[in-house]
Order: sequence, then structure tokens, then C-alpha cells
Amino acid sequence: MSDSRNAPCTLEVALGSRSYPIHIGPGLLGDPRWLAPHLAGRQVMVVTNETVAPLYLSRLRQGLAADLEVRELVLPDGEATKTLASVERIWDALLAAGFNRRCTLIALGGGVIGDMVGFAAACYQRGVAFVQVPTTLLAQVDSSVGGKTGVNHPRGKNMIGAFWQPRVVLVDTDTLVTLPPRELSAGLAEVIKYGLIRDADFLAWLETEMDALRGLDPAALTRAIERSCTLKSQIVAEDETEQGVRALLNLGHTFGHAIEAHQGYGNWLHGEAVGTGMLMAAELSCRLGWLSDEEVARTRAIIEAAALPLAAPAEMSVEDFLAIMRLDKKNLDSRLRLILLRTLGEACIHDATPPETLAALLEAFPR
Ligand code: NAD
Ligand code: MG
Repeated sequence: MSDSRNAPCTLEVALGSRSYPIHIGPGLLGDPRWLAPHLAGRQVMVVTNETVAPLYLSRLRQGLAADLEVRELVLPDGEATKTLASVERIWDALLAAGFNRRCTLIALGGGVIGDMVGFAAACYQRGVAFVQVPTTLLAQVDSSVGGKTGVNHPRGKNMIGAFWQPRVVLVDTDTLVTLPPRELSAGLAEVIKYGLIRDADFLAWLETEMDALRGLDPAALTRAIERSCTLKSQIVAEDETEQGVRALLNLGHTFGHAIEAHQGYGNWLHGEAVGTGMLMAAELSCRLGWLSDEEVARTRAIIEAAALPLAAPAEMSVEDFLAIMRLDKKNLDSRLRLILLRTLGEACIHDATPPETLAALLEAFPR
């Protein structure tokens, strides 16, 4: 076989000495060429969960050479397992196996696994090599890029963590075949977000390709993931620790978090709440005179085409929204800070929305 078999699309995340490649395409999982160059030594631990293990663990193992010392750890599924206790299980397994500072942790799964394994790697023996193999669209376009790792605390989501960059990210688009459609749509919300905040051409491309993406066309998926990762990694390179421009990635998230918090985390998927939240941000941007009615209609149409919800929960009042949004950690000095759209493809941070304009939007928005 020639070397062009399954040649992936590759992009480089530029972070100086911690730069790393993201390989994207079908058929990458069982191919040793993409993993081997990034393993720190012979000791490798693959961490995954009970849902993903039967689907993809053996395929991943085919991509690991026979002379490696490979261990596996299969954790329970779900956001509720994203805890320090699970990370301790990873550390226990590493110590029990006698793994040293030259071991490599491989995260095989969605964002929950990626965040936990990255954090375990950041702390084990003060930091060991880590590889991301994201298997949800959300993890492929969002959580595996940017170096944020961590776990939840009973008092708050993602409250314990570290910045820790992977050695390589391997995105095998074939893994999306088994992903539940709601999870695919949730990932598409973040893809649409990149177009809205930073790339009008990409947004226009998404408008024409949404059916192909929902139909899991490999070429369309590869392009959408590549563009999303490029846009996120550019923003991260400009602002690795979230002092400024990285906040734009939160388009739709302040409204979305209010929906998630009010509904109880897990009832609405994060991406579903972000989809509705982006439409709320677009409508507010229109009320501020920045977006035209036609641009809001385009925003609504693409969110609908991704099979994301267009209405807020029926029982959520204006005061419910405001009470939760006031607690948002982006707020400074009690002024509500929102990410809004100057135009399609250009977001801004805005902390001067008149309270009556926000209240009117929340009142008028469909339930
Ligand atoms: P998830 O990891 O819970 O995965 C969603 C569901 O899909 C799970 O049940 C999982 O087992 C299953 N699954 C995964 N891959 C599958 C596949 N190929 N086929 C079938 N089922 C599959 O959720 P997620 O949406 O991937 O990630 C959400 C997490 O990511 C949250 O904890 C969030 O805080 C975190 N996150 C982190 C960042 C970051 O920058 N680090 C960014 C965004 C989100
Ligand atoms: Mg998000």
C-alpha cells in the first residue's frame, strides 16, 4: 500500500515548543503512523469509558506496536464521573503498573474522558505525555483543542484543572457513525459558533453543507473539523490563558448556561443550549442595531438545519434568565458581559447592553 492511504488532513497548533499536530480524516484509528511518533516511551495507558471501549478500543490497539507495554482503563460513562475520584483511579492504575515519567496517556472518548485524562497526565509525576483521540464531534472541534483539562467539584463544573497540551490529536471521522444524532447536533452548535464569531465564508459553506454533515459525509466532516480546529487554535494561540479574545468562544454560552443551569445539567445537552443561546445573542445584536433581520434569519435557519432547538424552555421566565446570568464569571464589577455579533463572522465583547433591551429580548424570545 502506498503512503497516501487515508492521508489525513493535518494542521499544526502553534504553541512554540509545545506545538502539536491535529490529524483529521477517516480510518486513522488503527493506523500506527499517526500515534507512534508521539509516544514518549514504551509505557502507554489508554483510558476510555464503558460506551466507547466496545466500539473503538480494539481498533485503537491495532494502531499501537506490539512491543509497547499497553494498559487499559475503562471508566464508567457520564459527566457525573468527571471527578477527582476518577482521576485517582487513573493515577492508581499508573502506579500499580509501575509507569514512570516517560509513559503516555491516551484519552479515547468524548470531552469528559479528554478533560479527565489530560488532567491526570498534567499531574502524574509532575506531568507526562498525553494524546487525545476524541470520538464525539464536540470533543473533536472543541474540548481537544486548547489545553484546558480538569474535573468537576461538587460546588461547580470544571473548578479543578490545569492547562496541559497534548502531543497529538487524532480525529478519526469514522467514529462519528455510532454517535447519537443529538450528540452530533450538539457538536454542530460549536462548529456553527466558529463561523458566527470569526469566519463568514465558513458560515456560508456550512449553510450549503449542513445536510452532508448530518449525513456524515467524510469529506465535509473533515473540512468542518479542520476549519473549526484552525479557528479555535488561532484564538488559543493569541490568548492561551483567556485574558481577552478567547472570551469570544463563549458566544451563546451565557444564555446557554442559564438554560442548562435552570433545567438541571444533562437535560439539555450543552451544545443544544448553546444553539438556542447563539440565536438569543443574534437577536440581541439585532436589537442593538448591529445585525439585520435577514442576518438573524440566516442564524436561525442554520441552527434549525443542525436540528438544534430554537426556543427556550417554556417555564423559564425573564427573571430566571437574569438571576443566573448575573452570576456568570465573565461579568466584571457587576456589569453583565455578553459576547454579541457586530456582523455575521465578527463577534465582540459587550458590557453595555441597556438592561431594558436585554429584558425585552428575553420577554419576546420564543418558549
Ligand atoms: P461526553 O464525553 O460525555 O460524550 C457524550 C456521550 O457520547 C457519552 O455518553 C459518550 O460515552 C458517548 N460517546 C463518545 N463517543 C462516542 C461514539 N463515537 N459513539 C457513540 N457514543 C459515543 O460529552 P462531550 O460532549 O464529548 O464532552 C462534554 C465535556 O467536554 C464536558 O465535560 C465539558 O465540560 C467538556 N468540554 C471541555 C472543553 C475544554 O476546552 N477542555 C471544551 C468544551 C467542553
Ligand atoms: Mg461550549
